[in-house]
Amino acid sequence: MYADVAVCLPLARTFVYRLNQHVEPGCRVVVPFRKREVEGFVIGFRKDAPADLEVHEIGSVLDTIPLVRSDIFRLCRWIANYYVTPIGEVLKAALPPGISAKHVDGVKHSPPRRGGVARQPAGCRAGVVSSAETFRQHSLEASPCRARASRPPLGGGEFALTADQTNALSRITCSHGFHPVLLHGITGSGKTEVYMQAVEHCLHAGKTALILVPEIGLTPQLTDRFAERFPNQTAILHSSLTKRQRIDEWLRIYRGEVPIVIGTRSAVFAPLENLALIVVDEEHETSYKQEEVPRYHARDTAVMRAKLAGAAVVLGSATPSMESFHNAESHKYDYLMLTTRVEGRPLPVVEIVNMREEYAAEGKQVVLSRRLLQAVSARLERGEQTMILLNRRGYAAFLLCRHCGFTFQCNSCSVAMTYHRSIEKLLCHYCGLARRPPARCPECDSEYIHYVGEGTERLEAELKHQFPDARIGRIDRDAMRHIRDYERVLGGFRAGDIDILAGTQMIAKGHDFPRVTLVGVIGADAPLALPDFRAAERTFQLLTQVAGRSGRGDRPGEVVIQSYFPDHYTFQLAITQRFEDFYARESRYRKAMFYPPFTALAGIMVADRDAVRAGNTAREIGEYLDSLRSNAIRILGPAPAPLERIKRMHRHQLLIKSASRSTLHQLLGRLREYIEDRKLGATRVFIDVDPVSLL
Ligand code: ADP
Ligand code: ZN
Ligand code: ZN
Repeated sequence: MYADVAVCLPLARTFVYRLNQHVEPGCRVVVPFRKREVEGFVIGFRKDAPADLEVHEIGSVLDTIPLVRSDIFRLCRWIANYYVTPIGEVLKAALPPGISAKHVDGVKHSPPRRGGVARQPAGCRAGVVSSAETFRQHSLEASPCRARASRPPLGGGEFALTADQTNALSRITCSHGFHPVLLHGITGSGKTEVYMQAVEHCLHAGKTALILVPEIGLTPQLTDRFAERFPNQTAILHSSLTKRQRIDEWLRIYRGEVPIVIGTRSAVFAPLENLALIVVDEEHETSYKQEEVPRYHARDTAVMRAKLAGAAVVLGSATPSMESFHNAESHKYDYLMLTTRVEGRPLPVVEIVNMREEYAAEGKQVVLSRRLLQAVSARLERGEQTMILLNRRGYAAFLLCRHCGFTFQCNSCSVAMTYHRSIEKLLCHYCGLARRPPARCPECDSEYIHYVGEGTERLEAELKHQFPDARIGRIDRDAMRHIRDYERVLGGFRAGDIDILAGTQMIAKGHDFPRVTLVGVIGADAPLALPDFRAAERTFQLLTQVAGRSGRGDRPGEVVIQSYFPDHYTFQLAITQRFEDFYARESRYRKAMFYPPFTALAGIMVADRDAVRAGNTAREIGEYLDSLRSNAIRILGPAPAPLERIKRMHRHQLLIKSASRSTLHQLLGRLREYIEDRKLGATRVFIDVDPVSLL
């Protein structure tokens, strides 16, 4: 017997090895490979080996039972195919790092805890108590609201669902089999409550549910609400867990001890059986896309997983991605709308301050406009809370010599270094390089060094200066070394110990602070300047999300946006928060420019320390693609990437737009063979299907 082995290396093809013992498909093995030993997955078997090849024996077998079960295995195959990425790398990403056979052997031999079921190898299921029954018992014991299905749940407060919520819930729960749903609910419309009741419904039927969130740290409330409603039934998978904790959580799921999993991107691989529901919260978030190999999008992968499992999948957002809304519009997804805030609360009133006029009036550039200062004062007097968003960390965006125009760039990246006053350093936000800010210009020796553009550190200082008696908190990656810092500040804000919370987009996410009645947005223009066709979409999403933090309690909210381009359609449409108008407007642009969601897009990035070699390889790839070109295809580039150099790598980029997904797919398949056949040495080439970042 021979096995097809996918080695965990960036290689698309699989290799044949002779088997010397019994191995289940999906098990990991160690095999000799080009004078090394590498790990791989057994993905299939064959009777004969190819005659013209020298075939080696498998070195050792790491797993006695497969860690990647057959359903997850199928999902991995889909990813490998759709994202044109090596199956070995996908399988590796599907497991928690550091998991080894001994963890799982424990699964096989130790008695199950809490009535859970020890997992059996595929094919040995007969006679096993179904985990569904175990879950049913769990939910009957553990969930107090179960017996009163249609009445308000205890854990969530004493309220009746809104008509929109009721409708959404019944549409989600009455379906059988694969059912993709876009749940478009404005901020504060009670989406989380719909998720939780849909999960309850699942558990009642003895099934399991998977909840994906963009970043756990940013959604502690959602996690807490689930943990509270479903005690002992929820496993949590996220990146701030230690390796060991992550393995333990994963094992609880693998053993069938918990019916609910909440997790970030990679939780889409959670080994739940009997899956009936997947929720993707804030489906528009870019953090669902993995930016390293395998470059999968967890939202789209979740839809595929639901399809394979015959489950419902709910994509929830107040600002759906253009892609998902397009899928709803073309009836690929069911579309459910929550149009009102709970308890009839109004959406906040949004106002835009023209910062050019502000400059004219003040005679200098200011961080906080008079209008915003006055609105904050009013909140302080009334004992209400304020959030202020500035989506850049640090003190000053960059240092500029006013004498010769010199700016301080990172040595390794083509970006300006950001000034951080608390540590008195210039930092590169791309590679982390730190250096002391010089007192004199290294070019002309002048001492007229100017700090340009503000960050959250400066905003905090400015707020302290303007409101010396206010209690001010700040949230960004510098202030938050650990998830606990984050929880402490958010907890303080919730408890009313903080009056003004300033921060980066970390504060824009799904928080629910009833006493916030003012949200300020500073530097709202910045993202529009990025060379990215999604800039307007991102800006609209961020503004709508952050505005949604205001007026969630009894008192109505207000939003003040500071902009130098107040007439831009993104701001005008954000004022009214009319998503459909934005979608229509943006669709016209995307169609005209041949961009997603109306075409399939792939990015090819060529990176090399040697600038000439990077450019040459990119040109060769461009020529190769040209030779395959068809009418459905448009190719942009090769051209230097907007961020031309990162971590000393010179980067060149090509974009492929295709009217047909399958044409694109064929083209990429041939490109990958071409890349693997050509020995490119130190040059690295990345294929990114459905890229979310083009920088
Ligand atoms: P969203 O996720 O859509 O922004 P949430 O689910 O966080 O909204 O709901 C906002 C708040 O309203 C939460 O505190 C929630 O407990 C509460 N809530 C949800 N549904 C209702 C309802 N039908 N009546 C009253 N309050 C509700
Ligand atoms: Zn100078
Ligand atoms: Zn750098």
